[in-house]
Order: sequence, then C-alpha cells, then structure tokens
Amino acid sequence: MGADIESGRALPLVFEAPRKGKPPKHWADLEPADRKEAVVAAGLPGYRAAQLSKHWFERLSHDPDEWTDLPADLRAAVAEQFFPLLLNTVSEKTTDNGDTIKTLWKLHDGALVESVLMQYPGRTTMCVSSQAGCGMACPFCATGQGGLQRNMSTAEIVAQVADGMRRMRADGAGRVGNVVFMGMGEPLANYKAVVGAVRSMITPNPDGLGMSARGITVSTVGLVPAMHKLAEEQLPVTLALSLHAPDDELRDELVPINNRWKVDEAVDAAWEYARKTRRRVSIEYILIKDMNDQAFRADLLADVLLRRGDWGWVHVNLIPLNPTPGSKWDASRPEVQREFVRRLEARGVPVTVRDTRGQEIDGACGQLAASEEDVVAARSGG
Ligand code: SAH
Repeated sequence: MGADIESGRALPLVFEAPRKGKPPKHWADLEPADRKEAVVAAGLPGYRAAQLSKHWFERLSHDPDEWTDLPADLRAAVAEQFFPLLLNTVSEKTTDNGDTIKTLWKLHDGALVESVLMQYPGRTTMCVSSQAGCGMACPFCATGQGGLQRNMSTAEIVAQVADGMRRMRADGAGRVGNVVFMGMGEPLANYKAVVGAVRSMITPNPDGLGMSARGITVSTVGLVPAMHKLAEEQLPVTLALSLHAPDDELRDELVPINNRWKVDEAVDAAWEYARKTRRRVSIEYILIKDMNDQAFRADLLADVLLRRGDWGWVHVNLIPLNPTPGSKWDASRPEVQREFVRRLEARGVPVTVRDTRGQEIDGACGQLAASEEDVVAARSGG
C-alpha cells in the first residue's frame, strides 16, 4: 500500500519561526528573581513585586482594578508596563454538556491560536498551543497544513493555562491538574519559551502557577536533539512522541520530520528520556484506515519498542484519526482498531485508546486551525 499524501502537495519543513510580531513583554516572561528589580527600575518599592505575582499567579486576578492593595492611580501604569493583554477572546465553543470548551484567541499581532479545556470526572486537562500554526507539515493535521506563523512567548503560553484555572475556580469546579502541549504548534521547535512556560507552571505560588510537573505532557514529532536536551532540564514532565508509524518508509510520509530523524533515532531519544527522568514516555499513534493500522504494523511497533526493553519505559496511546478539512483519510474500522490493541497487549505493551474529545467543535487533536469563519470573527473585533 503506497502511502500517499492526499493533499497532493508536500509542505516544506519550517524550523525557524518568522521573527515578526514579537509579543510585548509580560510579567510571566520575567524570571521570578528579576521581577523585584523590574519594579524597582520602574520606580516602585521592591515589595510590589510579590504583590503583583500573588495577584496574577496565585489569585489568578488579571483585572488591575481588583488589585486593591495597589494605589488606584498606579494600577493603570503598572498594568500597561507589566501586564499587556496577550490573549483576546475571539470566540468560545462548548460541547460534552459544557465539559469541553475551545477558546479561539487573537494575539497582539492578529495571529490566531486555540486552547481546549477538558473536564473529566475527577480531573481537568488544558490543551495549549505553543506556536501560531506549525511548521512540521504533517499531512493529517489541520494545523500542520496551515504552516507556521510564529512562535508564542512564554507568557502567551502560561496565560492560556491561567485562563483555564481562573475559569475553573470561578465555577467552583476544581483545579486544572493537567496541561498537554497538544494544541497548535511543535513545542520543541519553540524550546526556550516552552521550557520557560513549564517552569512558570510548576513554580509554587505566588511566583508561578504551582502545578505538579507530573501533570504536564510535552508532545513532539521527534525533534531528537531537543528531546535529549529536555531530558537534562530536571523537569519531570511526561514526554509524548508522535510516532504514527513503526517503519521509516511510511513515517517519512506521515511525519515529514522523519526525513531528518528516523524512527530508531526518535525512539532511542524517547527511551533515553525515560531512562534519565524515570518518567514513562508515551508513544502516540494515530490510527488511519488502511494507512498505518495493519496487523503487521502493530507487530512491528511492538518489536520496535520491546527491542529497547520492557522495564515499563513506554506506553502506547492510540488516537482514532479526527477528520480534518480536505483530507480523504478516515479513522480505522472498529474491528481493525481492536485487533491493533489486541496484538500490542498480547506482546505485553501497555496500550490505551484516547477518547476524541471535542470533535464536534473541531477541538480534537489535529483539528485546531483558524478557519475562515474564525478569521472573519477576529476581524470584526470579536
Ligand atoms: N506537534 C506536536 C504536538 C501537537 S499535535 C506533536 O505532533 O506531537 C498533538 C497530537 O495530535 C499529536 O500526536 C498529533 O500527531 C495528533 N494529531 C494531529 N492531527 C490529528 C488528527 N487529525 N487526528 C488525530 N490526532 C491528530
């Protein structure tokens, strides 16, 4: 079966984001240790730094009018200097009885990104974007087909999580315990901002959002050098590798970065990550009908993983393909999916099938892309 890029055009891989549109610097872009100095340089007493951090990260209060421990005539100036509005809501769509909420944001330069808040019984997960668009050109992914606009800043990433947290708190609905970098973008292609954002999420209140690193998952197409670097950061986050094919022939087409780093190199880097961090890595595998869902590929996937040992270093997460505009590919048939699972289980490979939250609102994996309708809404100032 020849793998065939349905769109008929292969997109170039883009690593370097255009440098246009650098977002204004925000409090969350500063290292905690530098914040005091920043307020002093602005002519304020140093103790204001702790107050401001407490408002933004701990109380999740992003409206300076609520910062009543600050003299009223100072609030506007402080807000202007340190707290520029980074995310403007364009629209919100909900599904699953309100348990899944997709927000479309307009950034300062008009770039559009999305995040998705998913409430499950007993836990809430926020799916965030790390780039406006994506340069990795995966043919089954709506974001990848739209190309890369630019990298997001640390504060733009953190602000998505803060928004989800604020919303949950306002509803008395519990906490956001999990963040997945599975929205728009390739997080490891925007390494510095993403690592900065993760640090900000796991720094305790009041200097950061106070999350547990264990609840954070960074998902990558397999940028091997960056995976090795991440393993050295002392950040016990979960790493997910979007493998999608166990053989180079098919992966070269499904995940174009495979032309640079092959299956073995990507899986070695994931294994190394697990060995260094003692965190089990997740292998993401979309099931696409008659493309990568054959029984022999399930066996081959088991071989590729078990060759590196069975000490609990890995877990396979199967994702039924979510439909995207213009793609002729379909999700696998249920019996084919079951057989794929059965073959992995028979070999002792831990495997789960991801539920496809948010499909109805194009909020599921690979569906995040600013649609025509979104662009119109953003223009009309929505
Ligand atoms: N760039 C990163 C993170 C964003 S995508 C990465 O590729 O890992 C998050 C996950 O959604 C990836 O595993 C990606 O392959 C998957 N995905 C993309 N398009 C999809 C689609 N149409 N249906 C199901 N999953 C998809």
